[in-house]
Amino acid sequence: KPDLAAKIALRLRLAKAQPVVHALDDVSLRIRKGEVVGLVGESGCGKSTLGRVIAGIIPPTDGQVIWQGVDRNNLKAAKRHAAALATQMIFQNPMAALNPRMTIEEIVSEAPLTHGLVKKSERQAYVDHYLGLAGFDPSMKNRYPHQLSGGQRQRVNIARALAVQPSFLVCDESVAALDVSIQAQVINLFMELRERLDLTYLFVSHDLGVVEHISDRVAIMYLGRIVEEAPVEAIFRHANHPYTQALLSEVPRIELTKRRFKPVKGELPSPLNPPKGCHFHPRCPFVMDRCRIEVPVKREIAPGHLSACHLNDMPAI
Ligand code: SF4
Ligand code: MG
Repeated sequence: KPDLAAKIALRLRLAKAQPVVHALDDVSLRIRKGEVVGLVGESGCGKSTLGRVIAGIIPPTDGQVIWQGVDRNNLKAAKRHAAALATQMIFQNPMAALNPRMTIEEIVSEAPLTHGLVKKSERQAYVDHYLGLAGFDPSMKNRYPHQLSGGQRQRVNIARALAVQPSFLVCDESVAALDVSIQAQVINLFMELRERLDLTYLFVSHDLGVVEHISDRVAIMYLGRIVEEAPVEAIFRHANHPYTQALLSEVPRIELTKRRFKPVKGELPSPLNPPKGCHFHPRCPFVMDRCRIEVPVKREIAPGHLSACHLNDMPAI
């Protein structure tokens, strides 16, 4: 039995028009301790929303986020709180997460002081430690966010998240807004932190090069469903789902490390009114009659490789 960090089986319906929330449809995902799971898909497919649900920011409508063996939504208040601290989210735009009127020291120490993780008298050393872990020079801790570069701000943001001692980081396009050279540094930092602090990651990104580099396993999302899930080499060498194949074939292999994928041919249908059956059927080159009616079930086609496509039920030719 794998040592699970989280086991997710949920649905999220839209109560009202919420601009940043997308419906999630019977999403299931298992994340092992110490693993980096890349979550990929076109924008609007629900990957940020799933990240937020897993991080405990949005509760699912149905289903569960089993967090280290317990259903997070059924925890008593104090434990729910601890679970919320244990999962931290690192967003794309670090400025939005940093209070412009607080110094870096105040930003990093605020939550640990509130939650009693550090005494006031030990705050300086505590802040220096976490800034150092995030590769930020502690001698700059009296500055304000606007005095920093984008890369420095993201390091502060990482230090702030680490300072509440999480075991799981949900990174939502965390390097997308940074210059390419800084991106590589921050990705390396995430990998170092994984070793040093035993972290588990969900890495939400639309950058296939980044995902290939950083992930152990990859989940491909399309219109609120995970359509394929596999070890990283299997996704990049033996993609099974026609949507995954389309995503990868749009990008010449040699460009993968530098480029984001171009959108797959055809419009992404409205997530509010997704196509019946297989959500991908209006854009799929292999569409069959049953695809328009029947939702394909995710099946294991090779060890650890799951795909939700009716083609997998067809006899091989
Ligand atoms: Fe294409 Fe049908 Fe497979 Fe969907 S189920 S990806 S429409 S072949
Ligand atoms: Mg997003």
